[in-house]
Amino acid sequence: MAILITGGAGYIGSHAVLELLRGGFDVVVVDNLSNSHEAAIHRVAELAGKPVPFHKVDIRDRDALDRVFGTTPIEAVMHFAGLKAVGESVGQPLRYYDNNIFGTIVLLEVMKKHGVRTLVFSSSATVYGDPASVPITEDFPLSAVNPYGRSKLFIEDMLRDLCRAEPEWQIALLRYFNPSGADPSGRIGEDPNGIPNNLVPYIAQVAVGRLPELAVYGSDYPTRDGTGVRDYIHVVDLVLGHIKALEKLATRPGLVTYNLGTGRGYSVLEMVEAFGRAAGRPIKHRLAPRRPGDAAECWSDASRAERELGWRATRGLDEMCRDVWRWQSNNPKGYA
Ligand code: NAD
Ligand code: UDP
Repeated sequence: MAILITGGAGYIGSHAVLELLRGGFDVVVVDNLSNSHEAAIHRVAELAGKPVPFHKVDIRDRDALDRVFGTTPIEAVMHFAGLKAVGESVGQPLRYYDNNIFGTIVLLEVMKKHGVRTLVFSSSATVYGDPASVPITEDFPLSAVNPYGRSKLFIEDMLRDLCRAEPEWQIALLRYFNPSGADPSGRIGEDPNGIPNNLVPYIAQVAVGRLPELAVYGSDYPTRDGTGVRDYIHVVDLVLGHIKALEKLATRPGLVTYNLGTGRGYSVLEMVEAFGRAAGRPIKHRLAPRRPGDAAECWSDASRAERELGWRATRGLDEMCRDVWRWQSNNPKGYA
């Protein structure tokens, strides 16, 4: 029996496929390659020393998805497929709702048809909206501040309703804080399309000379150095949390919710410093106005996952920056 990985060619999905293969699981990947490259799949296969069954399928294509379930015995799904750019979602809300929400509905219906009821869903700390305080626990109030966040929140609501109506489902909602890092091989990593929106890939592209300098958005926040604080979690720790969640689901039906973060925050300037150490060169940056919509601080209380899953992030900031730098310096243009 295999684990189906939707979005398995993407940044987090490709790392999940690799760790699942390393852990002895069988996998099958579907991805429409709308934000990824098939090369990621080939590299994962090479790193794992095993073939990776891959189907270029859009999860909204019910017949194609049905054929995947019809030809491979699947026991559970890790659902990473989705569009994730906040700014783009503001300009193209219908595209985001169609891809993320409708795509998930089709996936759930096809799972149900084939008797598969175990799902690990990629949610996000964005479902906490603008949190009133930090650290954030799983029972904080939920809200959405943009269409991307609304798509995640709606899918969470839909999955909660589904578990209430059909208690045999086993679902984990995993709320990621700021995934970063890469496999230590330097063969797979984050390869954003165009100019990165997120801090770490932006810094990495400055370090490698693709971008001239980083704009630090906001230096007057009420934080230790005035810049925004976030909870950066190594992608390998993050995907190991998914495997723990899957094991947990095997022991009990119902829905569980976990923050996947480190429980500590770093400021933008601390990230600039750390990356400079990893790359052995200073990261050129300038202070700029705040970016609209940004919270001053966002970091997790990750104690529920530690208590209930026996999982916590073990990879530190310097290791994360070194792994990103190995990926970026070996692949200055990503997979292209
Ligand atoms: P990514 O864009 O690298 O990966 C998503 C993958 O899904 C891509 O390979 C893309 O081609 C594929 N995809 C998108 N729509 C699809 C569709 N309709 N059918 C089939 N494949 C489709 O993004 P990522 O960073 O790996 O994120 C994975 C998941 O985690 C997403 O759901 C994202 O919203 C969520 N998440 C990411 C972050 C982050 O900072 N990276 C934070 C919180 C949550
Ligand atoms: N940030 C920045 N410059 C950039 C990108 C991000 O100063 O070019 C800051 C941003 O204001 C926030 C932190 O870096 O304080 C993390 O931003 P990112 O977009 O990576 O994640 P998110 O805001 O979604 O937590």
